[in-house]
Amino acid sequence: ADQPTLKVPDSPKEIKELGNAFNDLLKTQNQRLQRERDFVSNASHELKTPIAAIRGNINLIKRHGNKHPDVIPESLGFIDEESMRMQSLIENLLHLSRADRAELVLENENISDLTQRIAQQYQTSIAHELQLQIESNLHIDGNADTLKQIIVALLDNANKYSPDKTPITLKLKRVDGKVQLSIADLGIGIPDDQKDLIFQRFYRVDTSHSTEIKGSGLGLSIVSQLVKINNGSIEVLDNKPKGSIFMISFAERA
Ligand code: ADP
Repeated sequence: ADQPTLKVPDSPKEIKELGNAFNDLLKTQNQRLQRERDFVSNASHELKTPIAAIRGNINLIKRHGNKHPDVIPESLGFIDEESMRMQSLIENLLHLSRADRAELVLENENISDLTQRIAQQYQTSIAHELQLQIESNLHIDGNADTLKQIIVALLDNANKYSPDKTPITLKLKRVDGKVQLSIADLGIGIPDDQKDLIFQRFYRVDTSHSTEIKGSGLGLSIVSQLVKINNGSIEVLDNKPKGSIFMISFAERA
């Protein structure tokens, strides 16, 4: 009877191709391993910094608190601030690991109503004027919780990286059969050569402006994962006369 035979490439060319394919595979695996190592070392570093500040201030209170009680309120203030920073960092790390695994059921979402509700609620917490241009009754296959997280994170950034009182514009409209959501600010903007980098974990634009503003560099990497989960795509453009526009496209529900 016929035995199944293993196909062995017989020409040197095929063997070379096989070798190349194998090397490519190894290279991608090594790159992934390297990214994971970078991630762990970045995360540890980011957590170490607030812990060092907290411990330093506790020591200060222990050593000098009795004789100089005036150091206490300021140190407690630092401890409070740094522990909140740690908390939000840990929450972000959890979001990232959940988003990695998330397999959400997408439902018919009226993204017009959802966006309107989120924006109105958000307006009450910021000093910027939120200008809304929302086309009604647009539907996508999406997940309300993660869509909310995306919109709030982009509004948080627009709020953080633009001066108070400058308006933030949120538009939702149908463009070429897609549903396009954009959030535009009149802030410090993002240099062209960093527009791709800002979506990487822990990446922050290194300018005197943006490093004064607190952040972990995790927000946009979470956003881009959540956009993917909702089958969308995200890009960043320059706003005029200044600032940035974050633009997301979703497929409109048929
Ligand atoms: P975080 O704000 O915590 O640093 P993000 O991942 O949300 O982290 O953003 C990454 C970086 O992208 C920010 O540090 C900032 O340099 C830049 N960035 C994000 N949003 C804006 C914006 N609206 N305007 C200018 N720069 C921005």
